[in-house]
Amino acid sequence: MPIDKKCPSCGGTMIFNPGWDSLLCQSCGHKEIIPELVSKIPVEEMDFLTAQNTASHNWGMEAKIVICGQCGAETVQNRLQLSGRCPFCGSTTVDAADPSKDIMAPNGVIPFKITEKRAQFIFKDWVKDRFLAPDKLAKDAELNKFYGIYVPLFTFDVLTENRYTGHYSSGNRTLFKSGKFKHQIDDFPVVASKQLASDKLLLSVVKDYWTREAKPYTPDALAGFPCEHYSIGLTEAWNSLGDDLKRYLEDEAYRQNPVTHLSGIQIATDYFNLRYKYLLVPVWINTFAYDGRNYIIVINGQTGKINGQWPKSFGTLMKKAVELFF
Ligand SMILES: [Zn+2]
Ligand SMILES: [Zn+2]
Repeated sequence: MPIDKKCPSCGGTMIFNPGWDSLLCQSCGHKEIIPELVSKIPVEEMDFLTAQNTASHNWGMEAKIVICGQCGAETVQNRLQLSGRCPFCGSTTVDAADPSKDIMAPNGVIPFKITEKRAQFIFKDWVKDRFLAPDKLAKDAELNKFYGIYVPLFTFDVLTENRYTGHYSSGNRTLFKSGKFKHQIDDFPVVASKQLASDKLLLSVVKDYWTREAKPYTPDALAGFPCEHYSIGLTEAWNSLGDDLKRYLEDEAYRQNPVTHLSGIQIATDYFNLRYKYLLVPVWINTFAYDGRNYIIVINGQTGKINGQWPKSFGTLMKKAVELFF
């Protein structure tokens, strides 16, 4: 399936239309529903152990990896790419990656629900809540410019069998307790973008998606939008979950003993039937440079949640913005 779908009524270029699960003609406004995005078919869960052999490499389009010459972010681009600008740092210096580089294709996508216009409103509100009198800044076109990008997210399903010990107090005695339980983990997410995962503020936005609303992958959802190539691989992503999962299961052991308020929980876990989904999730991203540093603000393209980095010397920035643009 070619990615650059032509409009059936005027021959214009059609790109993905956030919020409408459809393609939109840039010339005449003709809309076409994307069948995969309105289907009830769930995203297939893939077997982790055989991923090397079973993962799809078919993007359904001509996909190439482009590396940013400035920040090193890797994006998967297609011929319909609207701009050669790096969504993470704004640089226009891009290098082609090694063409033999293996690009595993996603098996699901969460399409953009939030439009660019909505993203700008969310940004203005956010700025307003955080700072005094930012009206002029919020009006500034450059700072309001958001770029849409799909970011890689792995989710894991796994059956756990757990043995635990812990203690609790009864009167002035300390009593010990041990137990076993099985627990099915469902859609535990790992953001596979180093750029976004390494910053707590940004991660808080791109970790929380309603993954149950993911749809089977279709290149039509990417028409006009770049996507980031994962910089954290599948195995690395699973390995990085250790502490989070442990904490989650310790909480589960605590919940299994509602009366005793167990503490000092020690837990040993066996994992079975590990499965994953490789999803592309939508993000509106805004980068700006200030004082030789890059700042990133992100908006979750499904839920509208926003967070980001901001220079400490905000007052100075505001002055600068005012000087520059008014
Ligand atoms: Zn048209
Ligand atoms: Zn860059």
